[in-house]
Amino acid sequence: MSKSKRKVWVLGNGQLGAMLSYAGQPLAIEVCPVDIMVPTDKILPLGVHDIITAEREQWPVSSLSLQLSSHPNFVNRSVFGRLADRCSQKSLFDELNIATAPWKLVDDNTDVSALYDKYGKRVLMKRRIGGYDGKGQYWLKQALDGQIPADWRNESIVEQAINFAEEVSLVGVRTRHGQCFFYPLTLNLHQDGILMASIAPLERLSALQSQAEAMLTTIMESLDYVGVMAMECFRVGNQLLVNELAPRVHNSGHWTQAGTHMDQFQLHLRAICELPIMHPQVNFQCVMVNLIGLEKDDRWLSLPNAELFWYNKEVRPGRKVGHLTLSIHDGHMLESSVNALKVWMPAHYQPTLAWILDEFA
Ligand code: ATP
Ligand code: MG
Repeated sequence: MSKSKRKVWVLGNGQLGAMLSYAGQPLAIEVCPVDIMVPTDKILPLGVHDIITAEREQWPVSSLSLQLSSHPNFVNRSVFGRLADRCSQKSLFDELNIATAPWKLVDDNTDVSALYDKYGKRVLMKRRIGGYDGKGQYWLKQALDGQIPADWRNESIVEQAINFAEEVSLVGVRTRHGQCFFYPLTLNLHQDGILMASIAPLERLSALQSQAEAMLTTIMESLDYVGVMAMECFRVGNQLLVNELAPRVHNSGHWTQAGTHMDQFQLHLRAICELPIMHPQVNFQCVMVNLIGLEKDDRWLSLPNAELFWYNKEVRPGRKVGHLTLSIHDGHMLESSVNALKVWMPAHYQPTLAWILDEFA
């Protein structure tokens, strides 16, 4: 009997919800992203067998978010609150003995000079709730006599600045029966707290794969999690420190659309709908470039190895409006595509494009 007739509702209707819908089409799963911010008296036609998932870890209370989040088939209901607050997320790492940047809750008694003594001359404050793309972060610098802003007390944590070699992430899935599968580790470049580009898989990261999988398996098991989860890490020598978790499909997994036989969106749908799941096969090594604050440029479509995903959002500075994935069939093709992008893209993309070329030099 087919389980694929029931609908999947998504709390949120941004690009992740759109990509979940797109992935549902070949499986004949109707995926309905919901804009929870629209004030309405409407009652959503949620069926008893429908499944509810979320494209975001935190949401305001609204008529629509309440309908979705109170449905009995809302998958991972108890996980979101725990992971949406950086304080309880970091506490989970400590409970599970998972390495993470040393941290502390900023409360009424937190003394800034004690923070500099403990963590060093530069410490990073992060809002407990709602931060993304580097928003909701604040560097306290001793040299500038940085003080804790009053409205950050009790609303933020402080972290030691990690002098990492690079950033990687692991995207994995857990089924309702507790089986876990993972994509290869992804190398990520962030600029001003926002993901600019990802590369995967990379042979040189394979030595870290089992360490990363063990960490994410422990986390997903402890939460009895179902579906795709992403774990962002700092690499310090041969050790991974977990930076943060996303209980959902993740930007650093977008390369799987072009590079694997089953992308992260389909993997998530299969897991939450209890459809068969197996280890996703990697077809191509890929480079994913986020399109941030750029107008759509049809010249990108002339690149022989590029796949464009445009989100159809209004273009604003610093806003993710699409991504371009270059699959790597041969090194020369990659180099010439990246060189073309260097000409077509503005100055703030040049470090990212140089970083890509460096990785393959
Ligand atoms: P996201 O959009 O992934 O949700 P975010 O804004 O919620 O991001 P983080 O992922 O915690 O926040 O941080 C964004 C980036 O800031 C990291 O990818 C990293 O480059 C840098 N960063 C975060 N924490 C630290 C740290 N403790 N030390 C040094 N750099 C850090
Ligand atoms: Mg992050």
